[in-house]
Amino acid sequence: LSILVLNAGSSTLKFGLFDSDARDAYVAGSVDWDGPAGTAEIVLRPKGQVEERQPCAANDHQSAANLIIRTMTEPGRAPSSIAAVGHRIVHGGSAFRESVIVDPGVAKAIAELSELAPLHNPQAVAVLEAATAALAEVPHVAVFDTSFYAQLPQASVVYPLPYEWYRDRGIRKFGFHGISHAYCAGRAAELLGRPSKDLRLVICHLGNGCSATAVRDGIAVDTTMGYTPMDGLMMGTRAGAVDPGILLHLLQHDGFTPDSLDNALNHQSGLLGVSGVSSDFRKVEEAAQGGNERARLALEIYAARVRSAIGSLSATLGGVDALIFTAGVGENSSTFRASACAGLRFLGIQLDPRRNTEARPDAEITAEGFTTRVLILHTREELMIARETLRLSAARRA
Ligand code: AMP
Repeated sequence: LSILVLNAGSSTLKFGLFDSDARDAYVAGSVDWDGPAGTAEIVLRPKGQVEERQPCAANDHQSAANLIIRTMTEPGRAPSSIAAVGHRIVHGGSAFRESVIVDPGVAKAIAELSELAPLHNPQAVAVLEAATAALAEVPHVAVFDTSFYAQLPQASVVYPLPYEWYRDRGIRKFGFHGISHAYCAGRAAELLGRPSKDLRLVICHLGNGCSATAVRDGIAVDTTMGYTPMDGLMMGTRAGAVDPGILLHLLQHDGFTPDSLDNALNHQSGLLGVSGVSSDFRKVEEAAQGGNERARLALEIYAARVRSAIGSLSATLGGVDALIFTAGVGENSSTFRASACAGLRFLGIQLDPRRNTEARPDAEITAEGFTTRVLILHTREELMIARETLRLSAARRA
């Protein structure tokens, strides 16, 4: 039996079909309809074989989910039938502190959380609806990006705002990217050959969305994202933390509306906003190398914010045993890593220049003689979701 994992992005749906031990994917891939109409494609990466790309008609999350399920249930495609489906859900709110088996009540509660994560939850809800209709006979498990933060200490959870907002309105830090951070925390312990129990980790997940999390004894103790996935580090199109006074000023004196501010902060800021070039880190790097001054500035701000988060989260932990870089930028850009870690020798952090440029994840890039281990890890969110799906569906069968 196999486990299908569905991971909805803004105009993509990633998937993986895992073996019954949730150890390895027989086939992974994605459906992507981000480009102009008519250019949608499905990418299939069967284990140990060459990648296949086929044009497809998918144009939204529902049609993409149906296409994936049809493809994964074609005769000969997978060695066994689908026994359970795992879904990545960005926001679990206060209702979901751990993964759950989806029933109509759970599905309704997840849909109601869309307001808190308008960029992410609605897509996952569309996928959940399509998949539970197409594969109605198997258990569906919802795995939340917020669950890893269920044990954040109160001092990280509560904002220094009127306490009633926390108590009565539920304004609090949730934290995001938890599936990736949890995977990396476990993988780092494995690679370092030490139990999670006495490890202090700072994990930087730097992709289109970016967050850094402090982990002690395998438990998240603070993180840069907050009530929404807009806080903290600079991202592709999101600003990250900015002075809230700026927003008030724009609303009160500059003709902005909540909607126009929302659009500016979520879609027109970050790397794109500063560089004017792109939200894609690689394109900004290329422009900077070509002499584009705003692109260079964008990269400088991006690295400075990561550096400052590493410092602050290390202070929260009272020291750091390992620093981890993951996701598109963290795994791939050696120039970024060198820039973010510059000046961190006081934390025992120093990169080996050759390892930093040549190593491919999963790998260690620590300079000889330095105490804080620096790792680059390939994040495996789908694998983590498969493990959770197996755990819950097996528990239900038992
Ligand atoms: P993700 O959300 O994890 O897929 O990460 C997407 C981000 O990673 C984009 O900004 C990409 O430009 C960036 N990225 C992917 N590959 C590289 C690379 N080789 N060098 C620099 N940035 C990269």
